[in-house]
Order: sequence, then structure tokens, then C-alpha cells
Amino acid sequence: MRWKGREQSDNIEDRRGMTPGRMVAGGGIGTLLLVLAVSWLTGTNPLDVLSQLDDQSTFQTGPYVPTAEERELESFVRVTLKSTEIIWTGQFQKAGRTYTLPTLVLFKDRVQTGAGTASAAMGPFYLDSDQKVYIDLGFYSVLRDKLGAKGDFAQAYVIAHEVGHHVQNLLGTLSRIHALQQTADETTRNHLSVRLELQADFYAGVWAHYEQQQFQSLDENDIRSAMDACAAIGDDALQRKFQGSVVPDSFTHGTAEQRTRWFLKGWKTGDINQGDTFTINYRDL
Ligand SMILES: [Zn+2]
Repeated sequence: MRWKGREQSDNIEDRRGMTPGRMVAGGGIGTLLLVLAVSWLTGTNPLDVLSQLDDQSTFQTGPYVPTAEERELESFVRVTLKSTEIIWTGQFQKAGRTYTLPTLVLFKDRVQTGAGTASAAMGPFYLDSDQKVYIDLGFYSVLRDKLGAKGDFAQAYVIAHEVGHHVQNLLGTLSRIHALQQTADETTRNHLSVRLELQADFYAGVWAHYEQQQFQSLDENDIRSAMDACAAIGDDALQRKFQGSVVPDSFTHGTAEQRTRWFLKGWKTGDINQGDTFTINYRDL
């Protein structure tokens, strides 16, 4: 993805110098794979862990001094976020709506969120209550080295997917589905989660479509790189990798094939109206 010298977003909160007070469960990026595995295997939403890690106190550990690599990654994240702001503002305008910009929080190891303390071990996530995307840049090393998704567009896809949840939030989809999940049995809850996640992948693809249209920044390798990321974090791929077998009822994000296909559908059509993952039959998803 051609990104150097492009406009950067200011909607970033750098909390890397701020650490929640008490050492709670979770830990740093080192335990990411373990928690991801546990969360994917059991089908629990990693965000459920938040309430168990709650601790309101935070202390400043001093201004955070990023490494050269982290500075570079931060610029990349800022350019990607800016692009999502431009593109989604335009898409919302076209639909007669207003796009509210999300904030992206950079943190290291642990962070205080609007819903409790979160750990880098949960991977990047979006919180609807405070409209913020949270990411520990260390996740990008995991994505590249442990999950095999190389290339900067794999990293852009991760941001675009989380921003996709923000789009769902603004459109009212998140609250509608979360309400349904409250009273559903576990399998139904998981199915609804898969539908949400595949739609976020679709929105990431829609963003990529307009990123290319407006900035001519992508080539075939970039799309390949995003597809690799979709495939690497498919439930079946993760379960096969970490438990050796696959349990479809416990899926919460969709298979490698589904995630890739919905991303590609967004990429090819650029049409937000084609991303209805809720009314089609679950097995046709
Ligand atoms: Zn997601």
C-alpha cells in the first residue's frame, strides 16, 4: 500500500505511557496467542474478559518513547485511519447520514477502557460504548510472524475491520445484535457473532475498494496480503492451529474461506448495500 507522505489522522490517543494500576490477569502480547486460542476455542467474546479485569486506577509511567519501528507503524496506522475517515464520511454522506469519527487508542500490554481494563492478549478490538478502536502495535508482529500474514495491507485490513465495527455501531447494527444475543442460546449467540464479524470484513473490503479508487495505492499483492490476514484469523484456521481439530458451533468470527469471501465481496462491489450478512441463511453465509 502506498502510504508515505499521505495525510495522517489526529484522532489517536496514545496511552502507551499509561498503565492500569494493578497487575491483573492477561499480560502482554506474549500471551496473545494463548488467550486468542482460548477465546476462539471456547467461543467467548474476548471483550467478556474485560469485566473480569476491571480496575479503575491508572498511573502514568512517563512519556512513552517509541522505537523507530513503532514510529513507522504509528504513521502507517494514522494514514490508514485517515483514509477510513475520508471514505466513510463520503459513504455516509451519500446515504444522507453523518459519520462520527472513531478514536484509535494505542496502548502497550494493558489499557483502561470505558468498560474496564483490557489486555493486549485480546488482540485489537472495538468498544461500542466509547466508540474507540484499541490496538497494541505488537499485534502486528504476531500477525506477521506467528500467523503468517505479511505485508502492510494485512495491517491496514485489521484497522479497517475494527472501523467496520464502528460503522455497524453508527448504523445501529451492533446494539440490535447485542440485544438479540442477550436472550439467545450459545449457538445462536455465536452465529450472530459470526454474522457481525463477516459484515465487518465486508466493510473492510468496501473501504479497500474506495482506498484504491481515491488514492490508487494498492496492487495485487496488497489484496493478497489482506486475504492472507482474513484466512489466518478464520476460526477454523486458528482452531486447527491451536487445538488440532475444528468445532463449527463454537465459531464466532467465521471460517478462513468466509472471511476472505466477504472481504472480497466488499472490495469488488464497493457497495455497502451488498453486505447484509443477517438475513441470509446461516449455512449460505
Ligand atoms: Zn471483529
